[in-house]
Amino acid sequence: MVGVPWCDQCDEYVGAGSVTTEGGCPTCGARVDRGDVATRVSERAGDEPMPVPWHLKLLALGVVVYLGFRLWQGIGWLLD
Ligand SMILES: [Zn+2]
Repeated sequence: MVGVPWCDQCDEYVGAGSVTTEGGCPTCGARVDRGDVATRVSERAGDEPMPVPWHLKLLALGVVVYLGFRLWQGIGWLLD
């Protein structure tokens, strides 16, 4: 589950306020899986820069092509 701190060691839910400043379990001190997406992304970012998703590039390309087409249409309309 996303956003729920969970201790694998105790196999129980750890309240967000109970987690130690080091991100550990208050009961056993083990590192708590916070289920935090941002944490996982930042951990991954250390290995390699996050690649731009291909669909985002496709979307950007589509917008450029569409706007170019509309611009071309507009110019053609003005010249008529
Ligand atoms: Zn624990």
